[in-house]
Amino acid sequence: MVKETKLYDILGVDPSATDAQLKKAYRKMALKYHPDKNPGPENEEKFKEIAAAYEILSDEKKRKVYDEHGEEGLKEGAGDMHNPMDIFDMFFGGSGGRRRGEKRTKDMVHPLRVSLDDLYNGKTSKLAVQRNILCGSCNGIGGKKGSVKKCGQCGGSGVQISVHRIGPSMVQQFQSRCDLCGGRGETMNDKDRCQTCNGNKVARDRKILEVHIDKGMKDGQKITFRGESNQEPDHETGDIIIVLDEMEHRIFKRKGTDLLINMEIELSEALCGFSKVITTLDKRSLVITSHPGDVIKHDDSKVVLNEGMPQHRNPFDKGRLFIQFKVKFPSDRFLSTSNLGKLAALLPAPEQEPMDENIEYEEVELVQMDPDHERRKRHAAFDSPDGGPRGGRGVQCQTQ
Ligand SMILES: [Zn+2]
Ligand SMILES: [Zn+2]
Repeated sequence: MVKETKLYDILGVDPSATDAQLKKAYRKMALKYHPDKNPGPENEEKFKEIAAAYEILSDEKKRKVYDEHGEEGLKEGAGDMHNPMDIFDMFFGGSGGRRRGEKRTKDMVHPLRVSLDDLYNGKTSKLAVQRNILCGSCNGIGGKKGSVKKCGQCGGSGVQISVHRIGPSMVQQFQSRCDLCGGRGETMNDKDRCQTCNGNKVARDRKILEVHIDKGMKDGQKITFRGESNQEPDHETGDIIIVLDEMEHRIFKRKGTDLLINMEIELSEALCGFSKVITTLDKRSLVITSHPGDVIKHDDSKVVLNEGMPQHRNPFDKGRLFIQFKVKFPSDRFLSTSNLGKLAALLPAPEQEPMDENIEYEEVELVQMDPDHERRKRHAAFDSPDGGPRGGRGVQCQTQ
């Protein structure tokens, strides 16, 4: 039994609520009473109460004290409470909780090409980005303190509206950039203008970001640098978001945490066994063996466990390595006719189909298929004058 239920009542949950239920309740209530959505002192008070209740109940220790001793118990050594906005920002990861009227500069998104080796082993990459920062000489004012005045011509809007009469009872309005302030809405005496930024308030800056690529990160994964985007006066600074772009590997193909390679083997190896070495992405040498007596067929797949990609945040746990075998067959006339007989005697005997006296057999020739010829034939079918498929007729038309 809990001593009192006031904080639970504020969030509208039962004192037996789980953490997930508390979170859900806070989310719903905080969004409902957020001052951006519902201005007014009453709602602001409610918003504060909700944040305070959540701050206590989401903290295991504080919740226990409250359950046993009520609000009285929390007064002793309560510590400092957070600003309700901060709790909101923390909860929503900053994106939902921006203060009213606070504009934010756009996020900058940079793709970063990474090799599979780097995603396997992890790496710190340096990436140079160009951005605007507030001018250091004038602190983003653009000139001497107090020198910036609202433009008298456009009233600070940066646009001028001119009216043209185009008929006896018709006028047309034109909007154009204010020519006095150049659209900035502000004017300044030239002598007060900041020499460094020429009154622009911002300067170009080159920043080197250290991008930590963790083992097992994926193609398309985002790495965020908070508040590193373009700076602008009176704006919160947006983020730089690095998006990983995985390059194709010459040997290994990635599928989630699994890796796949193709391995060519000779026919003799397919039938009689082999040992081969695979160099892993961290440069270890794996020996894989097909023992005498094992037969590997063309396109057979075998798996080596725990030799795939490391799992992100759990890199000792790796996926699987799939090896797909491609059996190389020998070329025509690789063996004399007499040796062919010996080879055939060693290989499993084929099933003989008995000849039936009552059937008249026709002997036909096996020829090599010419892929070019096949392609031309297909094109010819598309180009037929009536636009439809030609069926058998198209085949007849073809001559070599
Ligand atoms: Zn400046
Ligand atoms: Zn102006």
